[in-house]
Amino acid sequence: MRPTWAEIDINSLKSNFLQVKRIVGKDVGVISVVKADAYGHGSVNVSKALIDSGSNLLGVATVEEALELRDSGIDAPILLLGGIQPDEVEAMVKNNLIPSLFSLASAHAINTYAEKIGKKVRYHLKVDTGMSRLGVCVGEICDFLENLLNFRNLELEGVFTHFANADLNSSEPTLEQISVFNVMLSLINQAGLNPQYIHSANSAAIQRFPESHMNLVRPGIMLYGAGRMGDFELKPVMKLKTRITQLKRITAGTPVSYGGTFIASRPSIIATLPIGYADGYMRRLSNRARVSIRGFTAPVVGTVCMDMTMVDSTEVPGVMAGDEVVLFGDEMVSAEDVARWADTIPYEIFSITGKRVPRVYI
Ligand SMILES: *Cc1c(COP(=O)(O)O)cnc(C)c1O
Repeated sequence: MRPTWAEIDINSLKSNFLQVKRIVGKDVGVISVVKADAYGHGSVNVSKALIDSGSNLLGVATVEEALELRDSGIDAPILLLGGIQPDEVEAMVKNNLIPSLFSLASAHAINTYAEKIGKKVRYHLKVDTGMSRLGVCVGEICDFLENLLNFRNLELEGVFTHFANADLNSSEPTLEQISVFNVMLSLINQAGLNPQYIHSANSAAIQRFPESHMNLVRPGIMLYGAGRMGDFELKPVMKLKTRITQLKRITAGTPVSYGGTFIASRPSIIATLPIGYADGYMRRLSNRARVSIRGFTAPVVGTVCMDMTMVDSTEVPGVMAGDEVVLFGDEMVSAEDVARWADTIPYEIFSITGKRVPRVYI
């Protein structure tokens, strides 16, 4: 096998889950967000570990993601965070998946099918309090609830909203969203509805806004050890690793990789790594990122190729072909570092880690 892999540390994952529990307290449940293959960590193994640790529900983006979990024997409640298409209703109901509802057309489609097979389908109502993405807006909620009450085979299990700015310095926009949410919750109560779950907090809000915890929280990124917003201990779960394929000595003035965007300014030792942008190691990291080798860091030099990347290992004492290299996830180079070098966020770094990179669970 090509020596490029992502180590997934299940103990660190569980420790991050316990950190969430410690922050929110025992009376608040957790819906672990495992969309996008658990942010690239592998949703089946991650979900099993989180359920073991006491996760109440799982959250995914699509029906396909939910079916992958069901097919591997996971029977925990699964909330579909995205919308639902009419042709997905049957699979959704048969697999006992919980839809997020924000449109009467979907409500109608689900209710019709549920009626036909004589089943009640529980759902979570999604309200928009300022993100302008999915959800019923505050001006529409009363009409919406009135219509919803006509659907006899639907059962309201939860109400939720999502924050747009919980990780910003300013608390203002989030406090505003919480207050709109509270207004909508009282309108929902006035309509005679008393859902079991009320939830709003993503990882940033879990750490910064206790008043957003309600009775269920939705951590994603912090389970994977990133997105720390204070004095909390979170452990990286993914370590992206490879081994040096070839070492070569080049003279000063020698260009490296496509386009010669790097030219050695001194005699150098160049290490070629069998990982590239097709593995999710972004081309934009060319001449910007560093990797970790033997307790030192070495800079990426020249453009990142589809399957290979070169680093300048001149200053790594004793460097040898076959040495293990950590692209991110150890004490020397974090996913946050890589995200900064690539002008993005750790979410993207994790979730684009390619299909071609085997996940190794430890
Ligand atoms: C992705 C997502 C989350 C998790 O967000 P993090 O910032 O990763 O904690 C929570 N809720 C919804 C609706 C999401 O789409």
